[in-house]
Amino acid sequence: MVVDDITREAQVRSFVHQAPAQRIVFGVGTIASVGTELDRLNATRAVVLSTPGHRHLADGVAEWLGPRAVGQFHGALPHTPVEATEQALEVVRDRRGDAVVSVGGGSTTGLGKAVASRLGIRHLVTPTTYAGSELTSVLGETSGGEKTTQSGPEILPNAVIYDVELTATLPWSVTVPSAINAMAHAVEALYSPDAKDRTDEMALEAIRSIDQGLRALQDDRASLGARSELLYGAYLAGTCLGAVGMGLHHKLCHVLGGTFDLPHAPTHAVVLPYAMAYNEAATRAAMSRIAEALESDHAPSAVQSLVRELGGPTALRDIGFARVDIGHAAGLAVSRPYPNPGGVTHAGIVELLSKAFDGKRVRST
Ligand code: NAD
Repeated sequence: MVVDDITREAQVRSFVHQAPAQRIVFGVGTIASVGTELDRLNATRAVVLSTPGHRHLADGVAEWLGPRAVGQFHGALPHTPVEATEQALEVVRDRRGDAVVSVGGGSTTGLGKAVASRLGIRHLVTPTTYAGSELTSVLGETSGGEKTTQSGPEILPNAVIYDVELTATLPWSVTVPSAINAMAHAVEALYSPDAKDRTDEMALEAIRSIDQGLRALQDDRASLGARSELLYGAYLAGTCLGAVGMGLHHKLCHVLGGTFDLPHAPTHAVVLPYAMAYNEAATRAAMSRIAEALESDHAPSAVQSLVRELGGPTALRDIGFARVDIGHAAGLAVSRPYPNPGGVTHAGIVELLSKAFDGKRVRST
């Protein structure tokens, strides 16, 4: 009997799980430990990275680092353009940095990954959105208007400090799409070909935490408890993103962001219910678990209603997409095969994008 048959017949578990060598610190006020966390990484000369609009965050982290902070760079931009990376590399080389500390959302984390992996230095991330990039070995970069993606163990940040207080300043208009961006990782993890019991459990807990965190925050926009629930959900969802392959939804958002320059998190918030509806017939078990986590009887509608009730974006036409680009986007989405439970056809994607363009209600199939 071949091993595959034995595994099937005896229902013996069989999987590969590579645990990442990454330290996670989660709590309130945890940013105070950034110096000791850097010491743990045996780094003594850190350059702090941020976007131009958030240099105050970099200043705050530099203060906690004290003399370990040898410089700052505030030029992180969306989609990690290589020109910004070149500038940051110059600063880090000039200051003889042996680490970068990224403080901000996925844009800053992307820059930190690009710099640290090129120089082979340490990378500590303090995320302020729910994007989840800090937990993956993947780096997306743009050069000459083209977005390419690479992955490797050297890209995974060495440590992450989640400080709930750092997310308290996120405006509502950023909070909702960013949280749905995180929820999308958990949703697609549940029907990933790599899904395991452990990732399923994390994904379902992530969906519950994000849903409940968003609703609690809607009732009390200053609630640190709600922010904590959201960030915890995002951490679990990001862990799923780092552990298993994603499907149609992530592919579509990659195309829409990379080629049509749509904003990352709002694109996820609009597309997720449509991608779920597209995959529904092929993922009944996962969809019913998601529906249960959302205390609803139809998962795609529940996600769409959540975004709508919270005032998040629900139509591609409202976030900068043009109807004439639907065919081109669908062509790009089907141009390279990737795992997706519902199969992927050009006509199917055109229909999906047309509905998402107008923000039509998703229906049970
Ligand atoms: P972002 O970093 O651009 O932040 C989104 C918005 O939040 C910006 O307007 C920013 O100014 C604001 N913001 C961030 N922190 C804030 C704070 N503390 N207070 C107030 N406003 C704040 O975008 P993002 O959605 O976090 O990440 C998207 C990027 O990350 C994309 O480039 C995406 O491709 C990448 N990403 C990569 C991975 C990966 O695994 N490689 C995973 C997820 C996202």
